[in-house]
Amino acid sequence: MDIFFYNTLTKSKETFKPIDNKEVKIYSCGPTVYKDATIGNMRTNLFQDTLRKVLKYNGYKIKHVMNITDVGHLVSDGDEGEDKMLKSAREENKSPLEIAKHYTELFFEDLKKLNIETPEIICKATEHIKEMLEYVKQLIENGYAYETSTAIYFDVSKLDKYGVLSGINLEEQKAGARIEIDKEKRNPYDFALWIKAPKNHLMKWDSPWGPSYPGWHIECSAMGRKYLGEQFDIHTGGIDLIPTHHENEIAQSKGACGKIPANYWLHGEYLLIDGRKMSKSLGNVYLLKDIEEKGYDPLVYRLFNYSSHYRNKINFTWEAMEGASKSLERLRNSYQLHIKGTDILNEEDNNKLIELEENFHKAINDDMNMPLAMSFVWEVVRFEKKSPEIANLLLKFDTILSLEIDKDIEKQEIPEEIKQLLEERKNAREQKDWKKSDEIRDILKQKGYIVKDTKNGVEIKGG
Ligand code: AMP
Ligand code: ZN
Repeated sequence: MDIFFYNTLTKSKETFKPIDNKEVKIYSCGPTVYKDATIGNMRTNLFQDTLRKVLKYNGYKIKHVMNITDVGHLVSDGDEGEDKMLKSAREENKSPLEIAKHYTELFFEDLKKLNIETPEIICKATEHIKEMLEYVKQLIENGYAYETSTAIYFDVSKLDKYGVLSGINLEEQKAGARIEIDKEKRNPYDFALWIKAPKNHLMKWDSPWGPSYPGWHIECSAMGRKYLGEQFDIHTGGIDLIPTHHENEIAQSKGACGKIPANYWLHGEYLLIDGRKMSKSLGNVYLLKDIEEKGYDPLVYRLFNYSSHYRNKINFTWEAMEGASKSLERLRNSYQLHIKGTDILNEEDNNKLIELEENFHKAINDDMNMPLAMSFVWEVVRFEKKSPEIANLLLKFDTILSLEIDKDIEKQEIPEEIKQLLEERKNAREQKDWKKSDEIRDILKQKGYIVKDTKNGVEIKGG
């Protein structure tokens, strides 16, 4: 069955044709590990995980590379401001290495909780300085880069066209050019490939231009080429990466080898919180742990994401989480009903199930249309007859959904020690000793159990 992806490069939905028929090569821009990943960041990772699983469902092997940016990403996303890693290190009174290690670990913990597969290759920017330097040298040799007193810049005017992804018009832009910090830049859109380190800069390496450090964009170009070659199949990231980071990756690749590095560019839209952008100043930044603290299985957040296409915005509210939580419960209960079912399916039933599987398959192949795919999952859930064959179909869907549909909530074994703590907490609550009740809840949390007080009594998750 054909797979279709919306390609930001051509602004159209295209039939997917991999370079190699067996193995699909993907590059995803990974996190800058200077702070906690938000549930917004996780939305982008979820769409990338669905992409992997859809390709696997269609029989492809995957070689997926994700970088860890642990140097060079400046506060402005462009060439201005402090390195995010250094800023964080200063604020938290730690070394950049400690910051990177800490937030990288947290990032992978979140991925695990959401059943997001780890890409085959994870590469850190600081471990690929040699490759990046070679890339910059090549760009200078090819006449695409120049040195100023502060950096090595990419000269966008040397390209046949800059801005193929975002469609910006350089001539129009020049008229109202941005106020430039660096007067030595030849064109407003020139960007730093390599930055000369000021004195006392913590992260720097020897280079032909003195102690210095890489720009953010060169990291992905160098690591992508190292692991996937000059041209690969799919490049992914959040929508905010289109106008700067990905545009510049394309520029670098064209300068180095005359090619656009990936054939398909897939971008995920943003998660909004209560209809607004997530930002510290609005106080509406949520992490996965906030969702867990409210007593939700992290997979509820995964299911919630299927209510919108990855190229559409999605609005996070706690009411929506409550709805998704009920849906996940229904899905898992339905699996249990079907696996224990004894109804005999006739030819008509079998044909209907084949049709539903085909519809599901078509929906995921249609640029990962998860809301549509879910509508077929619910049809299977509602199937009147109950049979293990239907449960198996749900399990097949779960290779995409990754919701642990077969998790038997009823059968959850709660250790004696936890039962005792729950009893003590119940007594404390009966005596309106809220302090003690909260203390016990914290102890339970440390032991991996999340307690949620609902209208129907206490719910416990974890273990
Ligand atoms: P940041 O933490 O802002 O550097 O974001 C890292 C990446 O996560 C960005 O490049 C985006 O692609 C993605 N991202 C950030 N915020 C959101 C959001 N609210 N919704 C979806 N993706 C996001
Ligand atoms: Zn990147």
